[in-house]
Amino acid sequence: MKDDQKLNTLILLFCLVSAAVFLVSGRWRQVETDEPEHREESWLCRSSELYTYDEMMHDIDLMRFQFAGQFRVDSLALTADGREVFDIVIGNSAANHRIMVNGAIHAREYVTSRLVMCQLLDILEKEEDGTQYKGNEIREVLEDTEIHFLPMLNPDGVEISQSGLDGLRTPAMKVRARSIAAQDGQPADELYFSQWWSNANGVDLNRNFDALWKKYDDGVHHPSYKKYKGTSVECEAESAAVAKLVREKKFSAILCYHAPGEVIYWYFRQNGELRRMTEAYAEELSQITGYRTDVNFQSVDPAGLKDWALEKEGIPGFTIEIGGEDNQVDAEEFRKLWEENRYVILETAVAAAEGRLFRIPPRILEAGEHLTVVKCSEYTYLRARPNSRAEELARIPLDAEVTFEGYANDEFYRVTYQGQTGYAMINFLE
Ligand SMILES: [Zn+2]
Repeated sequence: MKDDQKLNTLILLFCLVSAAVFLVSGRWRQVETDEPEHREESWLCRSSELYTYDEMMHDIDLMRFQFAGQFRVDSLALTADGREVFDIVIGNSAANHRIMVNGAIHAREYVTSRLVMCQLLDILEKEEDGTQYKGNEIREVLEDTEIHFLPMLNPDGVEISQSGLDGLRTPAMKVRARSIAAQDGQPADELYFSQWWSNANGVDLNRNFDALWKKYDDGVHHPSYKKYKGTSVECEAESAAVAKLVREKKFSAILCYHAPGEVIYWYFRQNGELRRMTEAYAEELSQITGYRTDVNFQSVDPAGLKDWALEKEGIPGFTIEIGGEDNQVDAEEFRKLWEENRYVILETAVAAAEGRLFRIPPRILEAGEHLTVVKCSEYTYLRARPNSRAEELARIPLDAEVTFEGYANDEFYRVTYQGQTGYAMINFLE
């Protein structure tokens, strides 16, 4: 072998060894993933103003690559137009505490899907980086809690709101959407579809839960772009799937993102400890976000997810309304929403783990139990029938005791007061 041939062989050997060391050390991977530009641009929840179902799928796929082993994705339901309702789960599945956050149950409020995906991404990154929250590493927080993210509860509706008829995949559902527009007496145009709240069957999913559903008159009575409550409680694949999840997982808290407004609703007729807990935590959320809290529920339509979770499952439920009037938000508006909401999920996970938020299963009352009149200003009425327009039998003052006799309907118990039996409003009894 000539001298220059020896030199070439040595150089080749050196290159091969260097390449092997480089590959084994895993530095090639860091070079790829640490490049900040690459990383930022890839996450569409941080950049796309629309944030379609496909864009969400792109982010989920990227998460599968970058955070493999840190989460799992379950498909809860298949929608009428063939999309999936995803439940993305992080944390410890054996933990004693579980919380849930969801977005876009109302189609045109799709900015909430972006926000929920950014909240998930932020926690995955912090877990990997070893970042702390209030003195605890994120991975420690996640050892105590399991967190379910349902970023897009109503994917068909989101597509209709973003792209109109072009957003629908199946000819049958396009025909259906046209017929809903006709029933609404509206032209099937871009403006009409952009205002869409419902799913592709024209049911408003957040009016489809068992919380005053029967009594609620939606004022529509036919499939519509908004407010139609459906033919029965949980008649839609999306609402049935999320209700099933809530019943199975027995969450310590659920957070429901809506838009617009900067307000937190926390009340739906709950009493006692559940009321105290939800009110106290709503105040905490108000401190974090800067949004006001609202106790009113009469002026807001019932039969929503958080209403049902509170009333029938005893789960602290919160509706958080974010953003301004426009469906689509620009980069600056989104940055504001992000700053307001970035710690909401972590704080709720910590609150559940510390026992500040927990489920209180509704207690079944027994005939003969004593109840106290609460929350009314001076008195509530004993009425002849379970109806707020029925004949008044007596006035029962605040702090007076009545005897529970039986359940009447969603609003009234049958009770005895000073030897007289009639009906009093549940809302004012504890
Ligand atoms: Zn809404």
